[in-house]
Amino acid sequence: MPQHTSDITRAVVDQVPKVFRLESIKSRIVGLALLATLIPSLGMAWISYVQNRAALTDKITEELKSVSEQTAREIDLWVKERLYDVRVFASSYEVTENIERARRSAGGGQAGARLNNYLTSVEERFPDYNELLVIDRQGQPLASSAESPGDIHLPPGWLDRVTEDQTVIGDAYWDEQLGQRFMTVAVPVTAADRTIVGALVATASYRAVLTILLVFAPGESGNMYVIAPDGAAIVRSSGDARSITDRQLESATTQLLFASEGSPITYSDRDGVEVIGTLKRVPRLDWAVVAEIPVEEAFAQIKQLRDATTILVLGLLVIVGFIAYWLSLVIVRPLDRLTIGAAEVAAGDLAVDLPVGKGEVGYLTAVFNGMVARLREGREQLEVLLVTDPLTGVSNRRHLMETLDSETQRADRSETSFSILMVDVDRFKKFNDTYGHIAGDEALKVVAEVLQEVTREIDHVARYGGEEFLLVLPDTDIDGAVSVAGRIRERLAERSVVVGEQSATLSLSIGAAEFPMDGESPESLIGSADAALYQAKRRGRDRMVCVSRGKKKTVAKPPKSAKRKKPDAS
Ligand code: GH3
Ligand code: MG
Ligand code: MG
Repeated sequence: MPQHTSDITRAVVDQVPKVFRLESIKSRIVGLALLATLIPSLGMAWISYVQNRAALTDKITEELKSVSEQTAREIDLWVKERLYDVRVFASSYEVTENIERARRSAGGGQAGARLNNYLTSVEERFPDYNELLVIDRQGQPLASSAESPGDIHLPPGWLDRVTEDQTVIGDAYWDEQLGQRFMTVAVPVTAADRTIVGALVATASYRAVLTILLVFAPGESGNMYVIAPDGAAIVRSSGDARSITDRQLESATTQLLFASEGSPITYSDRDGVEVIGTLKRVPRLDWAVVAEIPVEEAFAQIKQLRDATTILVLGLLVIVGFIAYWLSLVIVRPLDRLTIGAAEVAAGDLAVDLPVGKGEVGYLTAVFNGMVARLREGREQLEVLLVTDPLTGVSNRRHLMETLDSETQRADRSETSFSILMVDVDRFKKFNDTYGHIAGDEALKVVAEVLQEVTREIDHVARYGGEEFLLVLPDTDIDGAVSVAGRIRERLAERSVVVGEQSATLSLSIGAAEFPMDGESPESLIGSADAALYQAKRRGRDRMVCVSRGKKKTVAKPPKSAKRKKPDAS
C-alpha cells in the first residue's frame, strides 16, 4: 500500500511541471505584463515618430526652400551687377572713341594702345574679371586687358544678339591655366554715330558665385550647385571644382526638379546617395540653384529617436518582464505547493500541512490545511474504531490477533517469553438473566476497566468475544502472569456492579499460557490458555489455571481477600 501511494503521488507530482507551458499562470502573467508594456510603448513611439518626422520634413522643406531662394537671388544680383559693370565699361568714352580709330588703323595704332590701357586699368580695379576684350563685329579682338587676347567663348549667333543691342551670356568654361571656371559676358559697343561696331567681352570668375553657394549650403554635408537646364553642374559648393561639369543629374531627376520648383523631392545623386533637394531658378539666367541634403543627415534626429526608443522599450521589457516573473513566482509558488499537496492527499498521504501565506491563495491554503486536518482526524477516529471494541473500549479480536502475531515474532526473534491470560466471566448468562442485558453490558465494562487498571501500559487487553477477554503480557513469564491474574481477581472482587438499587459482584475464571512453552504460534498458545480456562471452569470457576507444555502446572487458589459468596463451590 505505501509503495502504491508513493507511486500515485509521484505520477501526480510529475504532471505539475508539464503545466508550466503557455497555458500556465506564470507565462500568462509574464505575457500580459510584456504586452501591457509593449502595446502602449510602441503606440507612443509610433505617434512620436510620425509627429517628429512630419515636423522634421517641414523644417527641412523650409530650410531647403529658403536657402535655394536666397542663393538664386544672390546669384541673380551678382549677374545683374556684372552686366551693369560691363555695360558701364562699354559705354565709356575711352571705348566708344577709340574703337573706331583702332578699327581703321591697321594693328590698332595709338588708339589701340589707349584701349588696351583702359581695359587693363579696369580689369585691375575689378577683381571679378579675368580679361576684358574689345572685339569687332567679326569677332576679331581689337584690344585686351591681357598681353595677348585669350580664346573668346561666345555662343553661336552672338553677333545677331549684339547687333540687336542685347547682352550675350556665354557658357561656363574651365580655364586650365588659372584653374578656375569662368563665364563670358558680351555687350554691344556703340560708336559715336550710334552704330554698333563691336562688343566688349568680359570673362568673369565664378569665385564669387562659389562663395555665395558656400555661405548658403544647407546642413553639415549638404550640397548646393548651379545647374544648366540640361542638368550639367556649373558651380558646386563641394567636390573638385574641375570635374563638376561631368557631374550632372539624371535627366529625369533634372526634369522633376524643374517641374517641382520650390518643393523638395527625394532622389539619388550621382554617387547613389539618397538626398532631398529643392530647385530654384535664377531669374535673369536659364540656370537654377539646387540645394540638397542627404536623407540620412536630414532624418538623423529620427534615427536617434528610434534608437533611443528601442533601447528604452527593450529596457522596459526587461524590467517589467523581470518584475512580472517574480510576481508570478510569488503567486504561483503557493499554488504549486497546493497542487503538490492535493496530489499527495489524493494519493492517501494525510500528513500534508502547507505553509499559509497571505491573500486569496493564503486563505485557500488555510482552508486546504483545515480540510486535510479534518480528513486526518476522521481517519484516526476510523483507525481507532477499527481496532476497538465499542462496548468496553479495549482492543477488539482483530487487533488482538495482529498484536499477538507481532508479539510472537518479536519474542521469537529476541528469544524472550511472554504470557497470555484468557479471562471468562463466570455464569454470566445467569447474571444477564437476573439483572438484564443492560446491566450485563455495564458488568462487562467494569471487567474491562479492572483489566486495564491492573495491567501495564505495554500489556494488551482485548475482548476476545462475548464475556471473554484475552490479555497479552509482553516480557512476562508464567509466574508473572499468575500474579497478574491474582491481582485481577482481587481487584474485581473489590468492585461491585451497581444495578438499580442493588449491587452485584462478579467472578472470573482465568487460563494462563506462556510463549513458547505452551504454544509457539498464536493459535496454539490461545488453545493452551483456553484449555487452562476450561480446567478452571471444570474445577468450579472463580480461579486461575495455568498450563505448561500442555500440562497442568499450577492451580491458583481463589484470592483470600475476596469476601464474597463463591458462585460455585469447587
Ligand atoms: P460459564 O460460567 O460456564 O462461563 O457460564 P456462562 O453463563 O458465563 O457461559 P455461557 O457461554 O453459557 O453464556 C455467556 C453469556 O454471555 C451468554 C450471553 O448472553 C452473554 N453475553 C455475551 N456477550 C454479551 C454482551 O455483550 N452483553 C451482555 N449483556 N451479555 C453478553
Ligand atoms: Mg464464555
Ligand atoms: Mg462465562
